[in-house]
Amino acid sequence: MTENATIYDDDDADSTALDGKTVAVMGYGSQGHAHAQNLDDSGVDVVVGLREGSSSRDAAREDGLDVTTPVDAAAQADIVSVLVPDTVQPDLYEQIRGELDEGDTLQFAHGFNIHFGQIEPDEGVDVTMIAPKGPGHIVRRDYERGEGTPGLLAVYRDSTGEAWDEALAYGQAIGCTRAGVIETSFREETETDLFGEQAVLCGGVTELIKMGYETLVDAGYSPEMAYFECLNEMKLIVDLMYEGGLGGMWDSVSDTAEFGGLTRGDVVVDDHARENMETVLEQVQQGEFAREWITENQANRPSYNQLRNAEKNHEIEAVGERLRGLFAWAEEPDETADETEE
Ligand code: NAD
Ligand code: MG
Ligand code: MG
Ligand code: MG
Ligand code: MG
Repeated sequence: MTENATIYDDDDADSTALDGKTVAVMGYGSQGHAHAQNLDDSGVDVVVGLREGSSSRDAAREDGLDVTTPVDAAAQADIVSVLVPDTVQPDLYEQIRGELDEGDTLQFAHGFNIHFGQIEPDEGVDVTMIAPKGPGHIVRRDYERGEGTPGLLAVYRDSTGEAWDEALAYGQAIGCTRAGVIETSFREETETDLFGEQAVLCGGVTELIKMGYETLVDAGYSPEMAYFECLNEMKLIVDLMYEGGLGGMWDSVSDTAEFGGLTRGDVVVDDHARENMETVLEQVQQGEFAREWITENQANRPSYNQLRNAEKNHEIEAVGERLRGLFAWAEEPDETADETEE
């Protein structure tokens, strides 16, 4: 085991670090709407920066917030919270760069652009990160309930000597210190985030599901049974782990499932998978993945679009759409529809 991280709570934060300061929240998507409203409810001066004609402008105004252009918002702000998509951030930065004065802070919710050198803030500007470990609608919901979403805090550059206190106060104002704010670095946050979503969460889980589904269907079992076993039940298992760790899950499933899982899990996810995970991690660490993704965007995403289509056309998607239609819960309005964890 390596060293444990430092975790800050409400008592460690000092809200006066934001006194007299204005925060410009750039973007009003998943994170943007939550940060802006939580800051506002916490009594912090907030202005939302959105392009003319942005469809989010009305939403932000209806939520009672001041809205102006990104350049104008940055001009008013002491802290610029960059919450537009990661691929858009370098362009946004070039637009607002002239408005960042010495002592202002550029704040992120993910380290990609700083860590991989896509944004190189001018000297004298503090660079920090408060990254809630959850999608924006949860950050907002937790705050409204008087609870908080855990978050990460990192300081990349502290020119003023105030960057830490300010970032922690921001974390408190959006509710994160109510749960706990873990100290990290831009490098650690970026590399672990990319690795996690590629190897385990988004990439790993979908491949495991598809491979399990295909194995059953190829062996002659019905697609409906394969869908339930390999995809639908995933949520039930993950919920148990979320609540009680691996042990909570093992305690809840049958002894047969526990013995089968403990003896067969590492037959499927074996040492090859570990070696492949190490390769994926190296590609992240060496910037190979970042270069590939930046180039992909510059070329208008040819591989991305192709892979997305192939995934949409996988048989399991059609089976699932039909089966989910049978459940009442599938008809509830989905407030998370346009929001993603990653
Ligand atoms: P998002 O895609 O939900 O929202 C982006 C918003 O930016 C849009 O609503 C719009 O207001 C604006 N926008 C979109 N395209 C634009 C463009 N071309 N030019 C200018 N503005 C544009 O973004 P998000 O998921 O909230 O991500 C924001 C940041 O938060 C990213 O750095 C992301 O990595 C990080 N983050 C996201 C989550 C999450 O769950 N979504 C969690 C932690 C950190
Ligand atoms: Mg300024
Ligand atoms: Mg500052
Ligand atoms: Mg079963
Ligand atoms: Mg991510």
